[in-house]
Amino acid sequence: MNYDNILPLKGDSKQSPANSNSPLNMDVEKVFHMTGGIGKTSYAQNSAFQKKASDMVKHITMETIQELYYEVTPKSLGIADLGCSSGPHSLSLIKDMVEAVEGTSHKIFHPMPEFRIYLNDLPTNDFNSVFKSLPDFYKDLKKDRNQEGPAIFIAGYPGSFYGRLFPCNCLHFIYSSYSLHWLSKVPPALYDEHGKSINKGNVYISESSPPSVSQTYYKQFQEDFSLFLKSRSEELVTGGRMVLILLGRIGQDHVDRGNSFFWEILSRSLAISVSQAEIEKEKVDSYEVHFYAASRNELEDEVRREGSFEIDKLEMFEIEREVKNGESYGTAVAMTVRAVQESMLSDRFGDGIDLDTLFNNYGKMIDEEMVEVDIKPITFVIVLKKL
Ligand code: SAH
Repeated sequence: MNYDNILPLKGDSKQSPANSNSPLNMDVEKVFHMTGGIGKTSYAQNSAFQKKASDMVKHITMETIQELYYEVTPKSLGIADLGCSSGPHSLSLIKDMVEAVEGTSHKIFHPMPEFRIYLNDLPTNDFNSVFKSLPDFYKDLKKDRNQEGPAIFIAGYPGSFYGRLFPCNCLHFIYSSYSLHWLSKVPPALYDEHGKSINKGNVYISESSPPSVSQTYYKQFQEDFSLFLKSRSEELVTGGRMVLILLGRIGQDHVDRGNSFFWEILSRSLAISVSQAEIEKEKVDSYEVHFYAASRNELEDEVRREGSFEIDKLEMFEIEREVKNGESYGTAVAMTVRAVQESMLSDRFGDGIDLDTLFNNYGKMIDEEMVEVDIKPITFVIVLKKL
């Protein structure tokens, strides 16, 4: 099969950048990454929210992989985690998956399969910190099994999941948590022919955005999500499953007190940095995030339109607020947003931007806003079965 007809080549943008300073040149694949390592501002230390969300639907993930294993019972089980990042979440979930399959294989008196685990993220992800924790991971698995762990082969697969990543039919189960709300790029149509943003003063869809902004974001989501589904459909065996956890929105309105509000606060924080002459207004005007909060209908429509998958489950949930050791909720949110945005902000604004002050202001504003009305980020979990 010639994939050139269905999948655009990586980095093959249909529109060329308007000029060399154009933000279109911000190459997500080369720049975007969660803050690596295990330091104070790292993703590993500031992703309790994401961990809580995936824990809340862990029963769905485990039931799904058990069901799949029961139906297919392959000798060699292929599992991929797309957008695994650099924190401890990925391997801890893989361990739970191995144990879930082990449970089922005992129940049906079937020998344990071997596990092929593919950890995917963008090439700039700190894969090293994941690999460094592998010895402990293997030791842990052997601990309760007389030093004889299951056969597990783990590999890193750097690349964008908006395109093919794996050989045909090599996967049985795909998991992706908190990654698919990231688009493949900032929608190019947000910029006019001079490279100026049509969404000035905002980093995402906001009250003051022209209507074409939400249309442009939605179109990019449709293009990306259908390419994601198409690519995965080639890689999954028939009957294979995907569990996708992603941020979204409740209704048709793009602007709400949910995920869009967190970006609104970032726009306001950047405006303060401009007023303090730290960064140029023009640069802020052209800064947009490559993010989209889809609605339930939009997700369903795209799955239906693409046609390779059937929806087994689609549930929406909210995560209860939680703060650690006396720190305010605003500070916790600010640290979370910093860990996911720092790479892009630093690339755009260089050394001029004082990220400590920016996120200090961000945290304060969240706390002030929360006194008035709660901000409730919405998450979806979707279970898809390959037809
Ligand atoms: N799954 C982890 C990490 C979520 S953070 C958890 O639940 O904690 C989102 C991750 O998705 C980031 O590491 C980011 O680099 C990755 N990501 C975003 N867009 C991607 C793409 N197009 N291809 C692969 N990974 C991507």
